[in-house]
Parts: sequence; structure tokens; C-alpha cells
Amino acid sequence: MSQSNLAAVRGMNDVLPAAIGAWQHLERNARELFAAYGFEELRVPLVEQTTLFKRSIGEFTDIVEKEMFTFTEADGESLTLRPEATAGIARAAITNGLLRGARLKLWTSGPMFRHERPQHGRYRQFYQIDVEALGFAGPDIDIELIAMTARLWRLLGISRVQLKLNSLGTPESRRVYREKLVEYFTQHAAALDADSQRRLSGNPLRILDSKHPAMQAVIGGAPLLSAYLDAESREHFDALCATLTAMGIDYVVDPRLVRGLDYYSRTVFEWVTDALGSQNAICSGGRYDGLISQLGGEATPAIGFAMGVERVVELLQQTGQAFSRPSPDVYVLASGERAMRAGLALVERLRDELPAVVFEMNQGGGNFKAQFRRADRSGARLALILGENELERGAAALKPLRLDAAQAECTLAELPARIPAILDTL
Ligand code: ATP
Ligand code: MG
Repeated sequence: MSQSNLAAVRGMNDVLPAAIGAWQHLERNARELFAAYGFEELRVPLVEQTTLFKRSIGEFTDIVEKEMFTFTEADGESLTLRPEATAGIARAAITNGLLRGARLKLWTSGPMFRHERPQHGRYRQFYQIDVEALGFAGPDIDIELIAMTARLWRLLGISRVQLKLNSLGTPESRRVYREKLVEYFTQHAAALDADSQRRLSGNPLRILDSKHPAMQAVIGGAPLLSAYLDAESREHFDALCATLTAMGIDYVVDPRLVRGLDYYSRTVFEWVTDALGSQNAICSGGRYDGLISQLGGEATPAIGFAMGVERVVELLQQTGQAFSRPSPDVYVLASGERAMRAGLALVERLRDELPAVVFEMNQGGGNFKAQFRRADRSGARLALILGENELERGAAALKPLRLDAAQAECTLAELPARIPAILDTL
């Protein structure tokens, strides 16, 4: 393949070492936080049967209508690269027999695939961190999930975020609203784009989720779901709002927040930011009480959310925190092949004896001058210098790198004691 053909696939990006520190910082904070809240990790396949996504996400959604990477196996089976994780987790809970009345607090992370128009913050392969609580009717768990995400933003130092909340009620209460909505949008059919006209019969609520700028006025005039909420959903939502207020977690109720997936009921929420331009959603979720029974599992109330890792990483980078690779403590210089070989073995022994000290061994040869230059660039505080003559006498030298200090010789046997002692003074 010539190099000109060697391009990454559109909308699929490399995460290079310069950015990996921020990614790992987010991943580490999320992993530790989820564990502290009692969530366990699971990993599900990147590929599932296409029908799983059609049945869960819904036929009349952007994802299923036009964003899935789908391919057909030789035997005719249609498979799809996962566009999100909830469907796979629900499937895994059912097929592994994890439910049976159990309560599961789960999280996963990894790449998702959607055939969208690539733009800043919107990719065809993107990463999500996904949290799901199965078997809890809420609203307590709804509150805990939201409080946990609020805590994650605080831990990360991310402040330009806002929480939007809404309740979608039950499927029954939505039916009445749906009729009102169809009536309204039918009267305004001329203002609808082609997608929305199709959704008018398939799933009119999806029209509210349209990003089409020309339709925002007609969407703005549509009847509100809140007027049709059933009493229990209203109670659930009021309890959620009141507790968040009491906990000091700010939110705004957005009566038009419907979310782009079909399986939601009652609580839906989205964390948005004004710091990323138009791709402003960083974490979205909601309750999906009907999904698991709809997929053939026993009725299990559930709630979950997914955050877009690229978008959160960008917010993290904007905070100006440094996430570069930590410098080694000790840079090891060796002149000549024999010293290098002996040095490799010596440093392995030192790593055994001093697991808390980070050693970087000079690689690629070079004279001492070149090696000292690399040692300085590495940011190490101490140089361990191995010369062939010294090694033959069982000796080596240590030199603090960032002060004007002399090089001092010691025996190899003294190194495990001398190195931490000197590092302590630097
Ligand atoms: P949007 O309205 O931005 O399309 P969505 O409603 O499709 O988002 P979800 O399916 O709820 O998003 O996914 C959860 C999160 O994943 C989003 O809040 C966003 O941060 C991120 N996300 C979704 N699609 C993409 C994408 N194509 N590229 C990067 N991040 C994405
Ligand atoms: Mg989308």
C-alpha cells in the first residue's frame, strides 16, 4: 500500500501519547469513583446482532435509521458495531442470567461506532464511559447517579457544566401526549423536514429532538409532555428535583429534553457545557424501565448514562492541568556494550529492591555527553553512571542532575540504600 493510500478511516482518530495523560486521568478518576459507589465493571462485545439495537434503541431514531455500521455475515446474519453500550449490557444481563430479581450496579467503557458526519466533537468511532443500575426503581438511584457525575466533574476540575432534567412519564401517559403532538405537528406539517415528516407517524416524540435550526420555532410551540405526566411519574420527578435542590446540585428542568433513544421512561438528564461549541452534550442518560422486558428478560427497572470521553477530555484539557508522563527518578547512563549489558541486569535488580523508584535506562548508546543531554531532558533528578572500569571494581557513580552537585562514587552493594537517601534530599 502506498503511503498516500494510508489514511485513517474518516471520523476515526488516533489518541496519541501527548493526549493520553488526560484520557488516563479521566479513566482513573471514573474507575475509582465508580468503585467507591459500588459499581462493578463489565465488558461486552463490540459487535451484536443488528436486531438488538433495532429493538432497543428504536426504529425511528437517528442511530438506527442512519448511523449504524452494519454488515452481513456469510450465513446472512446481520451484525452491527455497537453504537452505544446500554443495549449490549441489557442483553448480557439477560443472556448470562444475572437478573433474577438481583440489583446490579455496572459500568463499562470503550469505543462506540456511529456513521455520523464527522466534525469537532462528533466522530464515527468515539469512546463512552457508561454506567447502568439494573433492578432499582428510583428515584434514589437516579439521584445517586446524578450526584456521582457531579462529583466526577468536581474531581476533574470541570466547572462549565449544567444539568438538564426532564421526565418522560410512563409509556401509557406518553400515549395521550403523543396524540396531542401528532395533532399539533400535522397542523404544522409544512414546517417539518423530511425526517420529521416520516417520524410523525413512526415516533413523533423524536421530532422534539431534531437539531434542524429551521424547525426550532415549530418545536418551541409544541405542547409539553409535563402537562400529561401520570401521577406516579410526577411524584418520582418531584422527589428527584426536591432532593437535588436539598443537596445543592443545580439543575434546570428542560421540558423539551426527550433524548434520541426510544427506550427511556421517566427521568432523562443531560449534562451540557458552553465550552465546546455546538457539540454541547457531555453526558446523557435516563431511566429505561421497559427495556429489559421488551428484550425478553424479566421486568427490571433500570437507569443509566453515558459520557462522551473525547468531549470530557477536551474540557479537562481546557482546565490547563498538566497530564504529561511523570519523569523518571533516576536516569541510568552506561558507556560501552559491556557496561550496558551489566547495567541492564543491575537496574532490573534495583527495580526489584526499590519498587517505588522509577528508573529510565539510557537506550540507543551514545557518548556520556549525549547521554547526559537525554538524562536532562528526561526530567530525572538523579543520574546513575556506569563506566566499564568502575563496574569492574564493583562501583558506580551517582550525580544529582538539577543542582550543581558533584558526582560521588559508591559500591554497587550500597546503591539500594544510597539512591533513596539521595532522592530524599533532592
Ligand atoms: P448528540 O445529541 O450529541 O448526538 P446523543 O443524544 O446522540 O448526542 P447519546 O447517545 O446519549 O448521545 O451518547 C452519550 C454521549 O456520548 C453524548 O452526550 C456525547 O457526549 C457522546 N457522543 C454521542 N455521539 C457522539 C459522537 N458521534 N462523537 C463523539 N461523542 C459522541
Ligand atoms: Mg446523536
